[in-house]
Amino acid sequence: MEQSLFLPAELDFILSNVHYTHSEIKLNVVSSQIASQCPICQSISTKVHSRYLRMISDLPVSGKIATINLQVRKFFCENSACIRKIFSERFKQQLKSYARRFERLNELLSSMGLDLGGNVAHRVGKLCFLRISASTILRLVIKSPIQTIVAPKIIGVDDWAFKKRMKYGTIIVDLEKNKVIELLPDREAKTLSKWLEQHPSVEIVSRDRSSTYASAITEANKNIVQIADRWHILANLTEGFEQFLNTQRQSIKEVAVELTSTNAVEAVENPPPVVEIENDIELYQVQSMSKYHDKFLKTKQLQIEGYSKRMIAKLLEMSRNTVLKYWNMSSFLPKVGKKRNNLLDYEDYLTQRWNEGEQNVKNLYAEIREKGFKYQIRSVYELMQRYPKTIINVIPEMVKVKYYSSKQLSIWLGTFRKDWSDELPKTYLAKLINDNPIIRKVRNAVLNFKRFMKDKTGEKLVPWCKNIIEDEAEHIKRFARGILNDYQAVYQGFESNWSNGPVEGQVNRLKTIKRQMYGRASFELLRKRVVITSKR
Ligand SMILES: [Zn+2]
Repeated sequence: MEQSLFLPAELDFILSNVHYTHSEIKLNVVSSQIASQCPICQSISTKVHSRYLRMISDLPVSGKIATINLQVRKFFCENSACIRKIFSERFKQQLKSYARRFERLNELLSSMGLDLGGNVAHRVGKLCFLRISASTILRLVIKSPIQTIVAPKIIGVDDWAFKKRMKYGTIIVDLEKNKVIELLPDREAKTLSKWLEQHPSVEIVSRDRSSTYASAITEANKNIVQIADRWHILANLTEGFEQFLNTQRQSIKEVAVELTSTNAVEAVENPPPVVEIENDIELYQVQSMSKYHDKFLKTKQLQIEGYSKRMIAKLLEMSRNTVLKYWNMSSFLPKVGKKRNNLLDYEDYLTQRWNEGEQNVKNLYAEIREKGFKYQIRSVYELMQRYPKTIINVIPEMVKVKYYSSKQLSIWLGTFRKDWSDELPKTYLAKLINDNPIIRKVRNAVLNFKRFMKDKTGEKLVPWCKNIIEDEAEHIKRFARGILNDYQAVYQGFESNWSNGPVEGQVNRLKTIKRQMYGRASFELLRKRVVITSKR
């Protein structure tokens, strides 16, 4: 009874006695096998040569670390022709030759290591009364066998960064089972085609747009159906659209400026309040500031009177950049210090105090100094200058032209209008489309492409590409040529239900595991953890 409670049932052991303390339990055990088999010649021997003690670790017992002191025998090999004269007793599956842990403990440790990594498994193990080092756990993980999937048919491949921009690998996912089958140590064509040759059951491969994987698949087996992944196709399309928008920066800016200046002129009528001057140094600082303020007001005046930017720059002896800046500002906001200070961190507090009635800059300065502001009072003057003196609760806002990056615009404009969320600058986007016929035309082409993909109408691909190549912008043409070069796979991408979606998911899981290993993961260790723990 006691024995079956403690020891693996299959082993022919006899429990002779048990010792325990508050933290540990020690079992003294002898083997009851009558004979053992020579590992070299396989003959059975009963002739005992000697005995020794071997310490074996096991699963914990009742919250105690468990150790077995096993009396192991050495046998003579009785086959005179055998080169081995003496050998150590061999046991059944649970205790391999020379092992110092039962197999059931090894299995638990490698499972923990696969899921948690060496360090965490070691710490959790400690909490569970297992005294095993992280490196031992990792050794067990490396030794864990990968169960191969029988005859995978539909797979997805993609690359993943082992070290970003330095070293990449390839991930292979069984799309039917959504399970990682293999990690390859690089993203070379020959590595993938070799793997495919070893797995002739594969019929369909979903992949990115790179020619490397495409040629690897063709090389391995011409009959494999290739699917260009939808996500990658759309990413290429958006990229082409972005590059096209880069050629349209001038009109993108013009539309932004036009929209802003229509509601930005009235500020001239309400110049910012004058700051009370308390000493000479401050007088000088404020004066030098008001010089800019002066120029700002004059610019605005000339702007209203209808002068061009070029003319204003000439008349006021200012750079055209500064004129453009003032042109687009509705009220004067002096620069807050040339050095970057942290005044803006205190702006909410200053606004609140100002609205509460504290409008003395010196007092406010003293207050924020106590809160940790370390710079000079000057920057506080500069900021507070635009606060209205007596009117409480009305702080003028500076209207600034918003420029959007081509990347941002390629995403927004590449979305159907009905899907525009309320956070988007809808008026601006609508004006941009309306005012610029080339942007409108290319955008329509982009949207059509997306519509065909959504409707799975692959037959519209060729006419679309031909149309583009005849008369659209260069960057979109390049995209269209790429589609024609990879036509069969893109057509499948339109028509097929398979895609690299699950592969992306698995790559994310891989990244999480890699991050847990703090960049110290060897490829083999990562491979074992990613493949074995994929949907166990
Ligand atoms: Zn032998």
